[in-house]
Amino acid sequence: MFDASCRKDGAKVMFERPGQPPITYAAANDLVLRLATALEELSVRPGDRVAVQVEKSAEAVLLYLACLRTGGLFLPLNTAYTGAEIDYFLDNAEPRLFVCDPGAVDQHAKRASAALAVETLGADGGGTLMQRAAQAVPQPAPVERSPNDPAAILYTSGTTGRSKGAVLTHGNLASNTVALNQAWRFSGSDRLIHALPIFHTHGLFVACNMALSAGATMIFLTRFDVDQIIDEMADATVLMGVPTFYTRLLKSPRLGPLATAGMRLFVSGSAPLPQDVHTGFAERTGHVILERYGMTETCMIASNPHAGERRTGAVGFALPDVDIRITDRETGAALPQGETGAIEVRGPNVFQGYWRMPEKTAAEFREDGFFITGDLGRIDADGYLHIIGRDKDLVISGGYNVYPKEIETALDALPGVAESAVIGVPHPDFGEAVTAIVVPAPGASLDSATLLKALSGELARYKQPKTVLLADALPRNVMGKVQKAELRRHFADLYTPAASDT
Ligand code: ATP
Ligand code: MG
Repeated sequence: MFDASCRKDGAKVMFERPGQPPITYAAANDLVLRLATALEELSVRPGDRVAVQVEKSAEAVLLYLACLRTGGLFLPLNTAYTGAEIDYFLDNAEPRLFVCDPGAVDQHAKRASAALAVETLGADGGGTLMQRAAQAVPQPAPVERSPNDPAAILYTSGTTGRSKGAVLTHGNLASNTVALNQAWRFSGSDRLIHALPIFHTHGLFVACNMALSAGATMIFLTRFDVDQIIDEMADATVLMGVPTFYTRLLKSPRLGPLATAGMRLFVSGSAPLPQDVHTGFAERTGHVILERYGMTETCMIASNPHAGERRTGAVGFALPDVDIRITDRETGAALPQGETGAIEVRGPNVFQGYWRMPEKTAAEFREDGFFITGDLGRIDADGYLHIIGRDKDLVISGGYNVYPKEIETALDALPGVAESAVIGVPHPDFGEAVTAIVVPAPGASLDSATLLKALSGELARYKQPKTVLLADALPRNVMGKVQKAELRRHFADLYTPAASDT
């Protein structure tokens, strides 16, 4: 797909980078072919893993493309990971090559061995790998790959436990790219504002794959800055973001119909888009954000329609060739439309399995090939999928299932509440007690008793929080996901008598 875009219009800018020269498709192609040769010279063979932990750069995306050409498995690592975490990933993946930032090489050089080469790639285009590429003869033809051959290992975000390496094939990436380009009508005239990290499925396999297969231009920003994004919107068409992007954009007085006049599409994913952000954005700009749903293991699964109603609180319909069903979370039996249960997915987008975790892989697939996503949801009367939360976040209190999202929605609607998170905390009588953590809106003074009283008229007794705790902020990761496991750990002893009492 990338080759086709290069042939179609080599002079087209692929990466526009503030403060750095642009990179055309032709120049990108030359670098990819050289990097592919460099990888082969470093003994990267089909099936070998190439672990990459570098700051976001256009060159890192080109390295990804070079890796695909050689048949190597691209394995990006979150830049936040440090010492012991990196050890875990390198032990688990046993890569042939580890690429790090030039500034981090002192710390990582000791990892080099006969089996593992350590190279560097800088955000400014420097580093040993680029030096090799500059001297290399461009690789003439890519290694033949079939759709079932693995293309990448992407570790999940680790929101619910230790990150797992999802093995994605060439077929997974290609089918998803085609489906998304159709769904969102991407074309060579699009100019995508890319402010996401590239070690995650959203930034790499959704945003980059889509843009480079359409021959579009990416305005490549190393981080999310509200004013910079608003400046770039003057000459862009699409923004792909996570909910926190939109929350932050809404805080800017500069956001309005004029600032967004040239934009054709705003997409949100990776975490639930709060309803007030969805409606607030539409009121301020006239643009209805398109919310979509996906995960590391499955690439993108569902999307609200491009033409047609984009529903608040829903993630829309399955992409072409993707099947979604809702099942009973305990028995696995299919549930009737409208009922909440486990979301299961099957299609060409679904990964091959977890790297070196055959038992875990087997446990997450049904016999008929459906993958159990670990998310709970329901399909409404018009066929829109709604995400209700994660299976692991479900609270079982006194034998009743309590879906945190329902309580969070009720809390968020109360005056003075900015946001909330509801978790289950071990409790001697109830098994788990519904526990709410509430962040007050700026300037609002809230107290737990008033919030509890307000909820008592709205929710059945078993759903009412046992405790409401006030906090300054919720713990989130870089993609804006609330870290509920962290909250559960933090409040684990809330209802257990202190050691001194027993
Ligand atoms: P881990 O699997 O390691 O616990 P993770 O599930 O957060 O981490 P990702 O694959 O990055 O890792 O995230 C996918 C998850 O993000 C989905 O399973 C879903 O829970 C959530 N998600 C993605 N898009 C949406 C959305 N639009 N609304 C609600 N949740 C979403
Ligand atoms: Mg997950």
